[in-house]
Amino acid sequence: MKIIIGGAVEPGTTRVNKTGGWRNFRPLYHQDKCIKCGLCSLLCPDCSIEELEDKYVVFDFDFCKGCGICANECPSDAIEMVLEEK
Ligand code: SF4
Ligand code: SF4
Repeated sequence: MKIIIGGAVEPGTTRVNKTGGWRNFRPLYHQDKCIKCGLCSLLCPDCSIEELEDKYVVFDFDFCKGCGICANECPSDAIEMVLEEK
């Protein structure tokens, strides 16, 4: 990012900053336990969970930071946080 003297910065988007590299834990999805409630997709602070047409979900690991909110809030334990292998 180019920083202009005086403190102003140009507008940007988080889409270019792939925050997935920050992750120490990753969500592991157990589709067989998923009740398709959509809560994880709604609560993910990085919008990294997409709800598909069939209401199952997929994770975007380019942006998931591994915060674990989805796993904490899932009502049916369908998401497990596991150590990221780098
Ligand atoms: S771990 Fe956090 S950032 Fe990653 S998908 Fe779950 S809620 Fe989103
Ligand atoms: S919160 Fe859990 S049960 Fe609900 S859609 Fe997400 S993974 Fe499935």
